[in-house]
Amino acid sequence: MEGCIFCRIVAGELPCRKIYEDELVLAFMDIAPINPGHILVVPKEHHTSSASISEELGGRMFHVGSRLGVACKRALDMDAFNLHLADGTCAGQVVMHAHLHVIPRGSEDGFHWNWRQKKYTNDDEREQVALKILEKLKI
Ligand code: 5GP
Ligand code: ZN
Repeated sequence: MEGCIFCRIVAGELPCRKIYEDELVLAFMDIAPINPGHILVVPKEHHTSSASISEELGGRMFHVGSRLGVACKRALDMDAFNLHLADGTCAGQVVMHAHLHVIPRGSEDGFHWNWRQKKYTNDDEREQVALKILEKLKI
C-alpha cells in the first residue's frame, strides 16, 4: 500500500534491524522501545486492521511473537513479555499497518499499563452487552 511505512520496510525501501523473516511475516526492532528488545511482528501483506488477517497469518504472527518473547526473556534476562496489538486510532494504533508488539518486561521496569477497570451495574447489564456482541459476531 502506497505511503505505508511498514509496507516500505517490508519492500526493503526503508531500513530496519531485522530479527526474523519468513514467507508471511517480518519482525524487526521497534525504533522507540518501551524496553530494549521491543520488537514488531509485521505481516508482509498490508492489513490496516487485524480483522482482515487470515487465521494462518494471525497464527503465524502470534507464534513468532511468542517465540521472540521467550528469546527476549532469555537473552536480555527479563522476567516476562507482553504481546500487544492496537486496532484503531483510539486504541493507540499509530501505524495503520496491523502489527504485533513483543515487549520484554521486568518486574522493576517502571512501565504500567493504564488498565482501568469498570463494573457492570448488575448481571442484566452484562447480559445485554453480551447479547449485542453475539448478534454481530461472525467467525
Ligand atoms: P502502534 O502505536 O501503531 O501500535 O505502534 C507503532 C510502533 O511502530 C511504535 O512503537 C513506533 O515506535 C514504531 N515505529 C514507527 N515508525 C517506525 C519505523 O520507521 N521503524 C521502526 N523500526 N519502528 C517504527
Ligand atoms: Zn502497509
